[in-house]
Parts: sequence; structure tokens; C-alpha cells
Amino acid sequence: MCAIVGIYGNDNAARLASLALFSMQHRGQEATGISSSCGGKIYTKKDRGLVSEVFNNEALEYLKGNMAIGHNRYSTAGGDSILDAQPVFAKYKLGEISIVHNGNLINKDQVRNELIEQGAIFQTGMDTENLIHLIAKNTKDRLRDRIREALDKTIGAYCFIIQSRSKQFVIRDRYGIRPLSLGRLKSGGYIVASETCAFDLVDADFIRDVKPGEMLIFAEGHDEPESIQLFEPEYRPCAFEYVYFARPDSVINGKNVYRTREDMGKTLAKNDVNNSIKADMVIPVPDSGVPAALGYAAQSGIPFEYGIIRNHYVGRTFIEPTQEMRNMKVKMKLSPMKSLITGKSLLVIDDSVVRGTTSKRIVKMLKEAGAKEVHFRVASPEIKFPCYYGIDTPNQDELISHRMTKDEICEYIEADTLEYLSIDDLKNSIGNDTNYALESFDGDYFVTK
Ligand code: AMP
Repeated sequence: MCAIVGIYGNDNAARLASLALFSMQHRGQEATGISSSCGGKIYTKKDRGLVSEVFNNEALEYLKGNMAIGHNRYSTAGGDSILDAQPVFAKYKLGEISIVHNGNLINKDQVRNELIEQGAIFQTGMDTENLIHLIAKNTKDRLRDRIREALDKTIGAYCFIIQSRSKQFVIRDRYGIRPLSLGRLKSGGYIVASETCAFDLVDADFIRDVKPGEMLIFAEGHDEPESIQLFEPEYRPCAFEYVYFARPDSVINGKNVYRTREDMGKTLAKNDVNNSIKADMVIPVPDSGVPAALGYAAQSGIPFEYGIIRNHYVGRTFIEPTQEMRNMKVKMKLSPMKSLITGKSLLVIDDSVVRGTTSKRIVKMLKEAGAKEVHFRVASPEIKFPCYYGIDTPNQDELISHRMTKDEICEYIEADTLEYLSIDDLKNSIGNDTNYALESFDGDYFVTK
């Protein structure tokens, strides 16, 4: 998952990068880092923790220069080492280099094993390190050519920002799976960020999305970034960014994420027209189900109510190592509004069901609080396949929709009824003009280059 940012041509580069990372904290909370470049030297600061904890004034003053790249790391099982924080920095023949990466390289083990055979030493478990080695081993004189040849050996979903002592190289894979946008800072210079919500905080105007297969080069003496189309584009943006991952105020591929989620909720309501459910209120699972619940309420005329209150000081439930801890964390995070729901029939909406932990816990909690009926609606299709393109999903066996049918899941979570969006409904809600990456729903692992 993760977030990346690059700032070029602004004397407050590191400060602006930290603000951009702050606005993209939802994409990763485990570790954060920034590399700036000044006077032919790269300065790096990275640590475990949130952006606001790691980047105090002292850290930002150390990060001198008018260009910076940054990263928020999403925690994945077993990868808790500080070594796995980014940017990844190295010295090599052409000087100093620092890299941030969002995505997942699917041929990483093969490339790494080949490099190890040839004598390479790795310090981290990150696929990002492969790229450093491929660039360092290459014999071309220009970094841009080394990057290009390294990418020829790289298969997967990726957005990279590579910083040398005086330039920045921004690359998005040919499928454009993970989002990446370009903006102009009102205070001077450019920003590239995973999500456009970062532009609002640093006062930048959106220019355009970085094109699939494109490399942008920012260099001194050039007012505009140079654009090189490295690969033939085969655009397949990730549908799950719209379902869950991106912030609602971001715009990806010209589509406001909030509007697409609202539309997913409207579609759920339209699909329910022939069901004889008489719900008294529509309740979102906060915060991820809110836009879809608003859409459902607007479409159906059933009032929207905050029937579940979220404690904002509890971290994400998803990546807790044991099922018992995950159950407990859901309970700590979400509480029912008893006086509102007692004796009522509820239509509850969440954005997705992965293992079924959250939905089961919520139905139980609402029934214990006196709800008469709980109709569970999911604003995405059934997740049957793990994602290998940069979204952290568990093994296939842990995915409830891989193991059970819709009716079995309904019984398991003890809901009165359960409905999902179909894959076509999802495509229509986001906009049917684009071919999306839907592998978690349809198992189409299309990345081959
Ligand atoms: P689960 O409890 O395993 O069924 O997970 C579903 C809940 O986790 C939903 O409330 C989603 O909003 C949220 N969710 C879905 N995908 C992810 C993800 N990749 N990382 C973290 N949370 C997620």
C-alpha cells in the first residue's frame, strides 16, 4: 500500500514533503521517511511511527535543499524492521541515490536471487532494493538509461521516485495500477504524490495524473519536467483504491473517490428495491462505509444515522496478528448507539468484507444493543483472491468469500440478509470508461510485464 511524494524546486521541500505525507497517513502508519538533496549531498531521516512524530522541527531543519522525496510505510506481517523503512539510500559509481516505492514487484524473488548469485548483498527484505542494485550494476553513463534498463527487468505494480543529487525521476508502471499525480506548487516548483489530497494541504494545483508507463525527469535549468514514455500504456487502475484505500477527497483518473463510493451505495439501494426489507435507518460502519451509506440513504429515502460510534484513537484492526486480538480491537474501536437502535431494523453498510471479522463483530454488537434486524450491505464485490499488486490482503484461505458462499457468510456473521455489489456494479459506479484492476474480485492476475 504506502504513499510516496516528491517535491522539486522549492526551498521548503522537506517541510512540504512532510505535510504531503501527513495528508496521506491513511496509506501507511508503520514508518515514514524523507530524503532531501542539497549541495551534492543527500540527507535522509526515517523512523518507525507517524509523520507527526518523526518529522519535528529538528528533523526538518536537517533535511536541507530544494528537492525531497518521502514515503509512508504500511505495515505488513513480519516486516516490522526499521531497515524496511524508506527512502532507500545508496552510494554508487554515479554518486548518491535515494528511492521511494509504492507497489509490489512480482518478480522480486527471481531478480533478487539472480543478484545474490552475482554477489550482491541485501540489507532489507524490500523489493525496492532490487532496483538500487540493478541501477548500480549497470554500466551506462547516464542515470536515466540505467533506470530504464533496470525497469526492463522489473515486473509488477509500481510507482517510483528516484532522487539523485540534482535530479528527480518519477516512474509509473505501464498499467498505472497505483495512483500518482503531478501538481504545481503555488509557492514554486512541483509536487508528485500518490494522492491528490496532498495537493490541497500544500497549496498545489493539480496538473494531471502521471501517465502509465511514463517517466518524468525534473532537472535544474528546466522549467517543465521532461516526459519520456518508457512503456506502451495498458491502463488498469486499481478498483480497490476507490472502494477502500484512497481518501474520499482524492481524485484518481479524473474521478472523485467520494462520488464513486456514494454511487456504490446508490447501486446497493437500487438492487434492494425488490427486496421486502423495511429498514428504519441506514448506518455506516465508520469511517469506511460513510460515503456508501449516504448514497444508499439518498437513493432509498431511508434516513442515515450514526448508529455506530468510532473511537479514533485505536489503530487499524486489519493487521493484528491473531484473530482474538482482531476481535478485541473491533470492540475497542466501534460502539453501538443503544438508544438509537433498540427495537429498530438496521441497514448497515461497510466498504468491504475481507476475513469477516469486522462484520461478524458488528452484527453481534448491534443485536446485543437491541437491534431487531441487521441487514448487512457491502459496497464492493466478494473478495475471493489475494492482491499481489500492492494492497495488503491475507492468504486466500483467510478470505471468507474464498471459503464460503454469500448465504454461508450471512449465516456466519448472523445477519438477517447480506448483499454485495456485483463486479459490473462496481465498474459502473467508478465509471465504465476504464479497464480496472479487479484481481481481488475476479482473480485476473494480468501483470506479465
Ligand atoms: P475484515 O474484518 O477482515 O472482514 O476486514 C474488513 C474491514 O477492513 C472493513 O471494515 C474494511 O474497511 C477494512 N479493510 C478492507 N481492506 C483492508 C486493507 N487492505 N487494509 C486494512 N483494512 C482493510
